[in-house]
Amino acid sequence: MFRVLAERSRVPVVAHLDHGRSPEECIEAIELGFSSVMYDGSALPLAQNIENTRRVLEVARAVGVSVEAELGVVGYVGTSPSTGTDPEEARRFIAEAPVDALAISAGNTHLSTSDSVPVDLSVIRAVEAAVPTPLVLHGGSGIPRQQRRQLALETRVMKFNIGTELRQSFGSALRATLARDPELFDRNVILGSVIDPLAEATEGALHHLWR
Ligand SMILES: [Zn+2]
Repeated sequence: MFRVLAERSRVPVVAHLDHGRSPEECIEAIELGFSSVMYDGSALPLAQNIENTRRVLEVARAVGVSVEAELGVVGYVGTSPSTGTDPEEARRFIAEAPVDALAISAGNTHLSTSDSVPVDLSVIRAVEAAVPTPLVLHGGSGIPRQQRRQLALETRVMKFNIGTELRQSFGSALRATLARDPELFDRNVILGSVIDPLAEATEGALHHLWR
């Protein structure tokens, strides 16, 4: 279903598996039609992360699917800290597992509900000096918008994951709809009411990067 929607879009869109937990899960996603996968081996020792990522790459390359990997743990607010990405490890990683995009850890943290935690620009500069790969920042919702703009314009960060920000917009739009009409029961109407606010929030986040 995602793939059909992606193919109908006027701009290039991938149907992307986020945080595949094992090579098998990523390979299953590829077989099911995902056009891009992320394998997250960031919690493993470097050699194991590289080996598992290579297994995903081998299958993905054969069918033209793009692969994102993660090096350096990107933590979750309140549960696990971010550990930072080591540029030398990044160099070795990319030499042995040349993925299309590399998610890195530079102070960014998942599930932040306000954009108040700047990332460490020096980490990003050091990693981009070590590898030619496009970089990804998960936990993008926590990064101040002004800094996201700077990163987009001046660094090789090519993708921000902003799930929390968009889920907040979904949640408040849904609450507003239900509060407006206590008699409302039709799930098509209820869920349909969040589409425009969610599209606006997405557009706003994108426009801010270059306007
Ligand atoms: Zn993530």
